[in-house]
Amino acid sequence: MTARGIDGKAVAAAVRERVRAEVIAYEAEAGRTPTLATVLVGEDPASEIYIRNKHRACEEVGMRSVHHGLAATTSEAEVLELVAGLGADDDVDGILVQLPVPEQVDPDAIVAAIDPGKDVDGLTPANAGLLAHGTPGLVPCTPAGVMELLRHEGVELEGAEAVVVGRSKLVGVPVARLLLAANATVTICHSRTRDLAAVCARADVLVAAVGVPKLLGADAVKPGATVIDVGMNRLEDGLCGDVDYEAAVAVAAAITPVPGGVGPMTIAMLLSNTLQAARARSTAGRN
Ligand code: NAP
Repeated sequence: MTARGIDGKAVAAAVRERVRAEVIAYEAEAGRTPTLATVLVGEDPASEIYIRNKHRACEEVGMRSVHHGLAATTSEAEVLELVAGLGADDDVDGILVQLPVPEQVDPDAIVAAIDPGKDVDGLTPANAGLLAHGTPGLVPCTPAGVMELLRHEGVELEGAEAVVVGRSKLVGVPVARLLLAANATVTICHSRTRDLAAVCARADVLVAAVGVPKLLGADAVKPGATVIDVGMNRLEDGLCGDVDYEAAVAVAAAITPVPGGVGPMTIAMLLSNTLQAARARSTAGRN
């Protein structure tokens, strides 16, 4: 069997197109444009590229975006003050603080200070709590992108065995919660899991979010499984995932490539979240 490649670029383009149309409808109704505010502390080159891409993506779907670049020496109190100000600003619908932040700033303190209604990264304890309670508010972008890919592929989740490798707050845990909410039977693996390949090989749906290049080989993939590889590992000869693509493609039914799988979904879901936040704030009469 040779697995079908899941085309994240095409699915992301479809999400952006939907958002673009919905932004026009929102503007007509609300008389304003959804607005994303980004904050970057310091001059990390990779972060600068991510921020630039997010602003370009906003522009392409007709959203407004404003950037706040702070010096690398900015204190935690100053970042907290900015985040509070953006929370109180009625023109701002979404707040995104690009991580990592310099060491004098506690990232957890900054994330916790974001207004949950504007938390378009879905990382505040309030939104994580809502997800844990099964009543999601704003869902983290990459996990939301994973679910969108599965939906687009028509993967049956009800009663399916799903295995998520990785338990981070950013990816593994929220993906697992979303799969559970979709009625999959979910197992979460991590660095202490015994016989990782054998656990993964039970999965109808295998999601890898680890950060170890090609950790999962053919022995970790059940024949006919759907494999979603969140991993983005930079090697000398380019990007690769947490799954050994060449090995897994011969066993799985469908698999995301790296790059071109989950990666493009993250910004698309950020746009979708920003629109969702704008709508919710309009409904509540807050903008
Ligand atoms: P993270 O916070 O470092 O978490 C990694 C998780 O993998 C941890 O739970 C860790 O277990 C587990 N792990 C590490 N080594 C393992 C091993 N040998 N066997 C089993 N589990 C192991 O990483 P993250 O932020 O979740 O990101 C994971 C990957 O996704 C990275 O490659 C990252 O670049 C990528 N990513 C991609 C996107 C995208 O847009 N495509 C977005 C976010 C992240 P412990 O908890 O036991 O330490």
